[in-house]
Parts: sequence; C-alpha cells; structure tokens
Amino acid sequence: MTGNASWFARALEVIPGGVDSPVRSFASVGGQPVTIASGTGATLTDVEGTVYLDYVQSYGASLLGHANPAVVRAVADAAALGSTFGAPTPGEVLLAETMCRLVPGLEQVRFVSSGTEAVMSALRVARGFTGRDRIVKFDGCYHGHADSVLVAGGSGVAQLGLPGSAGVPNGAVADTVVAPYNTVPILDDQVAAVIVEAVAANMNLVLPAPGFLEGLRAECDRVGALLIFDEVITGFRLSLGGAAEVFGVQPDLWTFGKVIGGGLPIGAFGGRREVLSCLAPLGPVYQAGTLSGNPLATAAGRTVLEAVTPEDLRRLGTRAQEFGRELESAIRSGGLGATVVAAGPLLGLYLAAENPVAPTTYAEARVICSNGYYPRFFHEMLERKINLAPGAYEVIFPSLAHSDDDFAATVTAAAAASRAVATS
Ligand SMILES: *Cc1c(COP(=O)(O)O)cnc(C)c1O
Repeated sequence: MTGNASWFARALEVIPGGVDSPVRSFASVGGQPVTIASGTGATLTDVEGTVYLDYVQSYGASLLGHANPAVVRAVADAAALGSTFGAPTPGEVLLAETMCRLVPGLEQVRFVSSGTEAVMSALRVARGFTGRDRIVKFDGCYHGHADSVLVAGGSGVAQLGLPGSAGVPNGAVADTVVAPYNTVPILDDQVAAVIVEAVAANMNLVLPAPGFLEGLRAECDRVGALLIFDEVITGFRLSLGGAAEVFGVQPDLWTFGKVIGGGLPIGAFGGRREVLSCLAPLGPVYQAGTLSGNPLATAAGRTVLEAVTPEDLRRLGTRAQEFGRELESAIRSGGLGATVVAAGPLLGLYLAAENPVAPTTYAEARVICSNGYYPRFFHEMLERKINLAPGAYEVIFPSLAHSDDDFAATVTAAAAASRAVATS
C-alpha cells in the first residue's frame, strides 16, 4: 500500500471523496489525484517518487515555494517555544505591524485561522458597524465557504440570493445580493457592505475593468456602505500593498489569508481603527478563536513578508507575464486556441478551439471554462510532470522559487500537450 492508487483508495474509505477540500479532487477533470509526499521550491514529489513542477502552490498559500529554508527554520524555532498559549504573543504583534506598514490604509488587523473565517468576521463587523444586514457580492467571486457568501451565481442586484450549496438555509442568504462582476451595482441604505475580489482569481482570472473598483468605492460612500476587498489571494502577491495599492482604491475592510501564513493555517481581517473598534472586547461585535494568531503561523507569515521585497514581486510579475505570453504562443502553435490573462504574477489560462476573448464576467468565463478543453490539456500536462490545478476556474501561481528554466520547460510541455489535445 505505497503507491498513489492505494493511498487514494485508503483516503476514499475514511475521508469523504478522498479529499479535505473539493478543489483537490479530480471531479472536474476525471481520474484520481496523486498523493503528495513532499515539496521543495517549485516542485512536488508524490508517494511514488515522481517529481512535478507545481503551479498550484497550495492555491497561493506558498509564495516562496515549498519548504523554504527560512520558513522551515522560523516554524521549528517557534514550535520549540510552544505552539499555542491562549494569550498575546510578540509574533502576532510583529506580523500585524508588518502588514499595517505594507498595506496603505490598513490600520489594524485581527488574526483568525482561515480565509473563510476572515470573511465571516469582516462581514459581521460590517453589519455591526453599519447596523445594516444586506451584503452585496459578485457572481463568480469566492469568499470561502461561509453560508452567507456561498451563493450561486445569480445576476442582477435586485435578485435575492439562492443557496449555492445544500445545507445552506434560505434565511442565511436572504440578505446576500449577487451582482455581475465589473458592473457597479446601484446600492441603497440597507447595504452594510460590498465584498469583492479586486482581481477575480476564483473564476479563472478576470481583471477589474477600468473604473469598476473606483465606482464601487464611490457607490459605497454614497449610501454609507463599507467596501471590503477580499485579498486572500491578491494580498502581498500583486504587490506588497496588494490590490488596494496597485489600483489606488482603498476599502474600509480587508480580508487576508494564504500568503500571510507562509503555508500554515491563517487568515486575517483588518481596516480602519474606527471600524474595528466595534469588535469585542472594545465593542459589541463578538469574534474569537482558540488558535487565532497562532505563533507558528505568524512566524511563518512574517518570515515570508520580511523576505520578499517590492522589487521581488515586480520582477516575478514581469517574469510571469513573459512566461504567460510564451505559454500562450506555445499552446497556439500546438493547435489549440489560447488566451493568457495576467495580473501581477497571477496567470489565467483560457483554452478553446479559437483564441478566446479574455472574459470580463463569470458568465463569459464559464462559457470558455466549460468547453471541455481544459481537462484534456490538464492531463497531458500532468503526464509531462507539470502540476496545474485540476479545475478550469483556478489560476496559475508562479512562485518566487520558479526558475526561468522551469518556465521554459513548462512552455515546451505546453506546446506538446496542445498538439496532443488538438490531434486527438
Ligand atoms: C481561498 C480564498 C478564501 C478562503 O480561504 P480559506 O483559507 O480557504 O478558508 C477566501 N477568499 C478568497 C478570495 C480566496 O481565494
């Protein structure tokens, strides 16, 4: 019982679907996932010893690459001092100070243990602060799996939310309104908050149209609603200041996760001091967590944020975009249509018979991502030891550990994979 097949068979027995998060399953691409034994830098090694170039990087939780030596050391050092106390620690203060220094307008943060929790807490703060119930989210944006934001793509701001998952009562989403991405909804004075991925990176990659984020800011200000940027993916990745810095639009609240834990479980929400003062113990909005601000996670996160310079991220962005252009032309040369969209170092790959037009909404993204090309391309790449996400709606995460040779090898594999799909 040592190979991929046997590990996954055992997983299926004791873990529903064999996975602890549905995105890891191969449900949308067919087949079965490999089981990972270890990772280092840009690569993963499965339990059979096969090495893959990894563009998932734990869906963006890893920015420096796997098992970065400085992060490993920081976690080991922190663990040796005790892993959780239920009391304030220097580590959480240092990470909070670092984040507030880097993100323009971010005055305070509170740590939690996942992005989902960060979003739940930010929404509660927004509701508590404004005394209003309604939340506006955008079709195709993912904000974790809390009831109120797990809403099926609806269209039109007037439309009441419908459950996007069994087990979510209608009441939990009655105050969630879904609007199409890249259209500024008309709000009223019942709206507590508008939550948005400033760059949408969970419906493949969809860029904010010029004026969209500015329009949201102005519309929120007009009715006294709070603007929440969910920067769980974009934070400390698009730039050290995140999307707010890149686009020059400041939200009232932010949510963070992924990068800020350096590969350990963490989330954070933050914003202006005035808004966060409504949180217990200062105010009436309750929010808590036994493992919140965990010393291992904050040590790992701080090591990452202190290791990365603004120039590192600018260079990674430039290199990733060059890689994206080469990937696009390699796939086109192999016979498939392809369009690669980029935001900083994030890449979105769209495949079709003819080169698709970059989508601006979830509805447009869905037409391309459901055309059946991605699953075939994914498997051809995996056979060539390139690990893309097993789903057409995920983005490509080049890390600081990916070398130019890694990118070149990926481009070569992509040309061959495209040819294999186009001729089959
Ligand atoms: C991943 C993600 C979340 C949820 O974070 P978890 O740590 O998986 O709970 C929330 N928002 C966005 C934009 C994300 O990409």
